[in-house]
Amino acid sequence: MKFVKDRKLNEFFGPSEGEIGIITLGGHYNGVMRGLQQLGLADVYGNSSIPIYVMNVAYPTVDEEVVDFCLGKKAVIMIEEGAPEYVEQTLHTLMRRRDIQTKLHGKDILPLGGEYTAPVMMKGLKSFIEMYDRKLLGNQPPVPDPTPILSDPKVKALAEVVPARPAGFCTGCPERPIFAAMKLVEKELGEHHVSADIGCHLFSILPPFNIGGTTMGYGLGPASASAFNVTADKRSISVMGDGGFWHNGLATSVGNAVFNKQDGVILVVDNYYSAATGGQDILSSRAINPNRKTNNSIVDAVKGIGATWVRQIDRTYDVAKMRDTLKEALTTDEKGPKIIVASSECMLNKQRRIKPQFAKAVKDGKRMVKERFGVDEDVCTGDHACIRLSGCPSLSVKHTDDPLKDDPVAAIDNSCVGCGNCGEVSEAAVLCPSFYRADVIHNPTSWDRFASRLRNRVIGWLQARRSAGRIVFAD
Ligand code: SF4
Ligand code: SF4
Repeated sequence: MKFVKDRKLNEFFGPSEGEIGIITLGGHYNGVMRGLQQLGLADVYGNSSIPIYVMNVAYPTVDEEVVDFCLGKKAVIMIEEGAPEYVEQTLHTLMRRRDIQTKLHGKDILPLGGEYTAPVMMKGLKSFIEMYDRKLLGNQPPVPDPTPILSDPKVKALAEVVPARPAGFCTGCPERPIFAAMKLVEKELGEHHVSADIGCHLFSILPPFNIGGTTMGYGLGPASASAFNVTADKRSISVMGDGGFWHNGLATSVGNAVFNKQDGVILVVDNYYSAATGGQDILSSRAINPNRKTNNSIVDAVKGIGATWVRQIDRTYDVAKMRDTLKEALTTDEKGPKIIVASSECMLNKQRRIKPQFAKAVKDGKRMVKERFGVDEDVCTGDHACIRLSGCPSLSVKHTDDPLKDDPVAAIDNSCVGCGNCGEVSEAAVLCPSFYRADVIHNPTSWDRFASRLRNRVIGWLQARRSAGRIVFAD
């Protein structure tokens, strides 16, 4: 408690005094601010007209902070998602024991269930403010109405050509090839029940993958799939990230699957970090952390609690290997859980780690090579099968001048990090040979320059020869 107080882990925003106040859990702060902004009671810089107490630490409750915040106010509202209203009940107890007369609201105004999105917050906060301090809403600007913009013919025309981009994996994410492989297996063996978990891999439930039947709590994907441990033609597949695995999945998911001889496939996505929450180290992180014991193997852990069918994939970008391993897991005669640990570093964190090192090496004059991928627009037919199996934000489309091509061809933009997934996918799915890799060399050596000149000459000669053999139609 002293630690929480001394380090000011809970925060106060807005004026120090006020008729009313808002108490919110830390995770809802942004939603509260957005709701207040739409009511004209906060600005985009986080300045609020209403006092706010943010409980970044919900447990233990720092009683004195709550009491200080509530004293002198007519009413406060507790923002807490989910049911039952644990924190609200705690505050009621706390206030009644001290005979504090401030009214406490929460789930009597806000919905009992469902997600507290910004519009939900806005509606709830508005009702609360109308009850106690109506004048605050006097300057409330109208909520922006998007209709005139969306009905503009130019915007409508744009909506027809710009493809919708649902939220998805980052550029170069190592989890994308896992789900591309799963799609390829699905094509061969049909659809399977897929239990998802919490973490980046949850993006696989959205296009272009559309994989995943259920989602439970952190580390509980395989535990939820245990309901499907019945005699059936197909095995269930459950997915869990490395964060979820160490959080509780090792015991609740894998342990129970081993104990119950659960005949399903468990896929552990090992991206070296708790990636979705910002890249914190976990037990299996590869980093050398002086304050933590990292580099603990997930494979050893699952074998340690009795799993026998365990496969390790060291490079998730190897789509063909991923596909074959999944297929083997789904079809093998061996009973009990089939566990695949698919490992490759989270690209977001990898880029954060290597970009400064790369830039420094280039600055120091060292020869450095950056891989980039591209699509040969002469070869690409524009069927976009690669996009449907990838969803990489860097892989897009562009128009060419080729009169024989009605559809735009695939194209890779400058944000490509050279993970190679699009090329691997197109090879594993036997799509087309349009993808090429280019090495961008910084600080080239004299040999690099010589090789480049030689290469350009040979290519130039071949191009000239092909042009000479082309049939030209008279105008
Ligand atoms: S944070 Fe890492 S693991 Fe998550 S989607 Fe981005 S690259 Fe993939
Ligand atoms: S290589 Fe392909 S999949 Fe990887 S980042 Fe570049 S465009 Fe995206």
